[in-house]
This record gives sequence, structure tokens and C-alpha cells, in this order.
Amino acid sequence: MSSAPSSRTLPSAQGSTASRRQFASDNYAGIAPEAWMALAEANSGHAPAYGNDPWTQRAADAIRDLFETPCDVFFVFNGTAANSLALAHCCQSYHSILCHDVAHIEKDECGAPEFFANGSKLLLLLGENGKLNPSGIEEAVLRRNDIHYPKPRVVSITQATEVGTLYSPAEVRAIGAMAKKHGLRLHMDGARFANAVASLGVAPREITWQAGVDVLCLGGTKNGIHVGEAVVFFNRDLAREFDLRAKQGGQLCSKMRFVAAPWVGMLQNGAWLRHASQANRMARLLHSLIHNLPQVRILFPQEANSVFVDLPKTTIQALYGRGWLFYNFIGEGGCRLMCSWDTTEEDVRAFAADLRATVA
Ligand SMILES: *Cc1c(COP(=O)(O)O)cnc(C)c1O
Repeated sequence: MSSAPSSRTLPSAQGSTASRRQFASDNYAGIAPEAWMALAEANSGHAPAYGNDPWTQRAADAIRDLFETPCDVFFVFNGTAANSLALAHCCQSYHSILCHDVAHIEKDECGAPEFFANGSKLLLLLGENGKLNPSGIEEAVLRRNDIHYPKPRVVSITQATEVGTLYSPAEVRAIGAMAKKHGLRLHMDGARFANAVASLGVAPREITWQAGVDVLCLGGTKNGIHVGEAVVFFNRDLAREFDLRAKQGGQLCSKMRFVAAPWVGMLQNGAWLRHASQANRMARLLHSLIHNLPQVRILFPQEANSVFVDLPKTTIQALYGRGWLFYNFIGEGGCRLMCSWDTTEEDVRAFAADLRATVA
């Protein structure tokens, strides 16, 4: 086969460990049973195409119920498309988008936001624990206001962040207020929004539209759906003609019921939150088992479904040798250990035991 592009290199899993549950990514996991059942249920007879089917209607209504507000909902295939098209819809090509230096839209989308926005520039800000703060945003806006500068028009934040931390409701509100003060739209990359809600114990509205978020890219895939993210516009004026942008961007699924149905399955009995809570709980357990080990240094506060940890190179190689897969792309020895909806306590204890044995 092929030249399948791999952004980050991991040893390939072989033999008896090939199908083991891993800590590499929450998209290593399979499809949650509730999503799978809904898919099977949707697979009966004919239904209108391109989203004009009852499943798509139900899924969009379920998302409106979840956020307790009228909003416009569009289903797309993945997070890169959701973010890029939503951001493109928030600004003109001569505008800029403020985001964190480690943001997925900057580091992991191959320039798609700039591409779909026809050149809008990402302006990178720093901030502790992967988070933007209001003063950094204001500083970036006030730095320049001349004709030569790409005018800031959007703030993009990630919840949960790329380093597994969370914005509290007050932090989102403060950013929302700052965005409003300077006429900026607020975009939220919610690839792990479920993990954030589960960990914060808040109503979804409290960290979105009530805090000033205009558009949310709501993650389905990492939560347990086979494929798909939802673009949720709380600012409904902004949603105008997004259907056309999604179609042009190659994101309108003709058999839409199979993208929409899993959302119904996940949302109707709280499965989305149960699965996210399980992943969070496993990350918490993993943190508790390893944070005191010698040569193990926790890199960021453990708040959602991941643990970021600095490990000696020899330890990383020893763990790879034992068949474990995880990314170590953060600097020299920085590793990301990610828990999924199906990670079990046995998985966590087995990994922690191997880690303990290899650092000892
Ligand atoms: C996984 C992820 C996405 C979506 O990535 P795709 O591979 O394009 O689906 C977006 N944002 C963040 C923070 C992510 O972790």
C-alpha cells in the first residue's frame, strides 16, 4: 500500500498488542454502542438525501435541546472541516483570527482555516496551560490598527484545550466579554466539549452562548461517534448561507441520515456525557497512579481525559517495546496519554504498572 501520511510517527502495533486499547488518542477507540445502534436503526428503507430526512431533524433538535436555545446546526465529516468552515464564515480574507500557539487550527489542520478563509491569518497568542486570556486578546487587538495589519475579527478557543486543561465558565465569560468589547466573534473548538462539560459539571449553555460563544464546533468522533462533528451557530445571523459553504467545502453528506443518527443515539439518554465522564475518570485514575513515580513529571493540570507527562527517553522506548502506543510530540520527552470512552480501569492499571516497572 501506500504513502498514507502520518503527521506523527509511532511504532506500529504488532502481534498480540495490535488491537489493545491504547493511550495514543481518543480516536483510536471504536464506535460507542449507542451510536452503533442508532446507525443500524437508521439503516432501514429509503429516506430523503442531503439532510432532508427525519434523523437529521431529530439530531439537530437534540442539539438545540442540549443547549436550551434556538441555534442553527450543520453536520460535517471532521473537526478540521468544522473549524475551517466555521472560521471562514466568521471573517473576510483580510481579517485575522486570534488563537493560542498550540491550537489545533494552527498546529494540526495543515493550513485549512487559512485556505478555506482565503487567506485570513491566524495570529498566535501565548497563555498558560494552553489557554488564552482576556488581556492577551486585548493587547493583540490594540497592538496595531493601521491599514497594513490583518484586522482581528475572531477569537478561537479550544474546550477542552489541546493540553487537556479547561476554561472555567468565568474564564469563557471574560473572553466573551473582551471579544464583544472589540467587535470580535468567538469561536470554540469543542472536539472534546463533552469531556469539558462532564468535568466542569456545568450546563452546556453556561460555557457557550451564555458566555458569548458565537459558534461551536461540537465534537462527535472523539466522544464515540463513527464520523462527524456538528457546527452549532448560536449567533444565527452568522449561520446565513453556511449550508452553501459546507457544500462547497465538500462537507454535505448525501446519505446524511448516517451522519446524523449517531447523534440521536448519543444524546437521547445522556450517553455522550456518560462516555466522556468515563474517559475523564480514567485519566484521573492514571494521573493518581503515576504522578508520584520517580522521573515522572506532570506537565499540565489534569482536568479532562488526558495526562501530559515528561518521561525519560529510555522509559518511552521501553513502553513502546511493551506494545504501548502514545504520542511524544511535546518537546524532548513530553508525552500525551489520552483516555477514551472505552478505556477501562484494567487498561489504566496495566499501563501504570508497566510505567512503574520501566522507571524503577
Ligand atoms: C481531534 C481534534 C480536532 C478534529 O480533528 P480532525 O482530525 O480534523 O477530526 C479538532 N480540534 C482539536 C482540539 C482536536 O483535538
